[in-house]
Amino acid sequence: MKGGKLIIFSAPSGSGKTTIVRHLLEQSDLNLAFSISATSRPRRGKEKHGEHYYFMSLSEFKKHIKNDDFLEWEEVYRDNFYGTLKSEVERLWAEGKNVIFDIDVVGGLRIKKKFPDQTLAVFVKPPSVDELKIRLKKRSTESDDKINMRIAKASVELATAPQFDRIIKNYDLDTALKEAHDLVADFLKTKA
Ligand code: 5GP
Repeated sequence: MKGGKLIIFSAPSGSGKTTIVRHLLEQSDLNLAFSISATSRPRRGKEKHGEHYYFMSLSEFKKHIKNDDFLEWEEVYRDNFYGTLKSEVERLWAEGKNVIFDIDVVGGLRIKKKFPDQTLAVFVKPPSVDELKIRLKKRSTESDDKINMRIAKASVELATAPQFDRIIKNYDLDTALKEAHDLVADFLKTKA
């Protein structure tokens, strides 16, 4: 596999990375397209198949693992598998796009390792674990159990931040959005 550039945004959930990724996708100068991940987790709220995720059953997901269809995959939470299909990245490269990912830290670092020169890996840092808790509760799309699971994982994820190319502190959203745009724009100017 080879092609355009890969932009990874990883962070504990609730850090605001999805908001940053959505903002970047709206900036036409960056020519980005979102890598739609596959997942075995159930649909939340208004999520749509083929837009937010490719939703599939656990057995379907495992079949793709067996076929070596994934660039990377991870059991992010118990029985909740997430992964990037090789076909997804190839589809977007064929459209001449730079690909942007909203994925967990392990998956993000795995892609960076596979494509070191083509990839910019950015870690989005939340102000604190307490603030994460507040944000996740406000979102209120999930049970307390699920929220606690995400928070427990957050501390482990925060420790991986130094392995990323860049860290963005999302303490003030407007500042973080501008910083993210400038970072990506600069990276896209470099040769792959
Ligand atoms: P959520 O359930 O909130 O949509 O996502 C949970 C976590 O899984 C987030 O950290 C999200 O970034 C991550 N994730 C989403 N897609 C992928 C993927 O394709 N691969 C990996 N490794 N993680 C993913």
